[in-house]
Amino acid sequence: MLVVPHLIFGAALGQAVNDLPGATVLAFGLGVASHYFLDSLPHWERLVGYKGSDFDPARPASEWPRGYLIHATIDVILAALLLVYLMWRVPHGQFYQNPVFWGALGAVLPDLLDNVPFWSGKIANWPIFKQERYIHRYFHITDESQQHMPKYLGLVTQIAVFLFGAWIILMS
Ligand SMILES: [Zn+2]
Repeated sequence: MLVVPHLIFGAALGQAVNDLPGATVLAFGLGVASHYFLDSLPHWERLVGYKGSDFDPARPASEWPRGYLIHATIDVILAALLLVYLMWRVPHGQFYQNPVFWGALGAVLPDLLDNVPFWSGKIANWPIFKQERYIHRYFHITDESQQHMPKYLGLVTQIAVFLFGAWIILMS
């Protein structure tokens, strides 16, 4: 799944728990859990089109197909801008005191660890990171089912997640 839907969903959870005690820790935990849950839904890894089973995101950036790299960069920049906007919208002291920040960070953390070509390959076998990667893969839908999804379902679920997150943010 793209970073943007993961991020907005996590930010929404953070905002929803904003007023609870221990909101930052709660937001972070819910954010991480939401990542595994959302990865279990039918989705593509890109806006349009299945990722391709030959492609391992843990490979160094220099080996990434150019189109994938551009696509991923745009996704990350949009996600970062969105996060800044959402934190500005619901200020909560410093950024590290803001549950919106921690919810969003938790929600993108598994991809930050496992799918960033600059370090994911290097940390893959470190203790804890290794177990995290196993959990991430365990919940993620298989390559096989991604390839055989009905047309555009992989995009529709991501839009639905985005809209649901936006809805929670606007309502809370
Ligand atoms: Zn993931």
